[in-house]
Amino acid sequence: MERALQLTLCAQEVKQYLLSLGATLVGFGDVSQGLAGELRHMPVAISLAVRYPPLGRNLIHTIRGPIYSNRYRQVDLMLEQLQKRLVSLLKSHGFKCLAIPPDSHRQDTRFVARLYPLFSHKVAATCAGLGWIGKNGLLINETYGPCLSWATVLTNAPLEVSTTPYVSGQCGRCRRCVEACPAGAIADREWRREEGLVPHIDVDACRRQLEKNQQLMGEDICGLCILACPRGNTKFIN
Ligand code: SF4
Ligand code: SF4
Repeated sequence: MERALQLTLCAQEVKQYLLSLGATLVGFGDVSQGLAGELRHMPVAISLAVRYPPLGRNLIHTIRGPIYSNRYRQVDLMLEQLQKRLVSLLKSHGFKCLAIPPDSHRQDTRFVARLYPLFSHKVAATCAGLGWIGKNGLLINETYGPCLSWATVLTNAPLEVSTTPYVSGQCGRCRRCVEACPAGAIADREWRREEGLVPHIDVDACRRQLEKNQQLMGEDICGLCILACPRGNTKFIN
């Protein structure tokens, strides 16, 4: 596949290549408006997502109700492998690129930690038309809801970008995550792109709830805003 792509590098072929390697979603977005100065020479974002496995052991039943962890090491390893293959493909064609790893690696190294304030997977995925930012502050895909891990590769390759980016939330009248949140951390407000990535959730209230769960149940997780989301019911398939 890589050899065939060396003649031409078009978005559809790159997408098929990554899907064949195990990606769940692949999209291309024009992010030229959202890039920090040092990244402006790479205006195309390739957004990659891998779906979470069935809930399984990550859903924990406690006497106070269920809690859920969306930390899946194997999903993020898969994303890293996909990024490596993609970076190798782009470089072999002479293009510049920069891989922004999955969120679980946010603090892995000083270099990676420095990347996150510069660019967000949310910008890539919304510009690529793969999802919107839900009221719960998570990327929501029409098919998989919030049950995806994301990674991004920025590049200067002239790949065809989405003509249908998300510029506002599509949650509508749904309030399930608002009502499910035990911390009252989620505002009943739709995201709009012109507001940037201003979080609609009270991150301090959310963090306090995780600390409370750590004390009460031994786990600093909650995940009720993921479990409550009706978008993408694949999380219930075992
Ligand atoms: S993780 Fe829990 S506390 Fe935090 S926003 Fe979601 S439902 Fe609320
Ligand atoms: S639960 Fe409803 S309001 Fe919350 S993110 Fe999902 S669709 Fe949007």
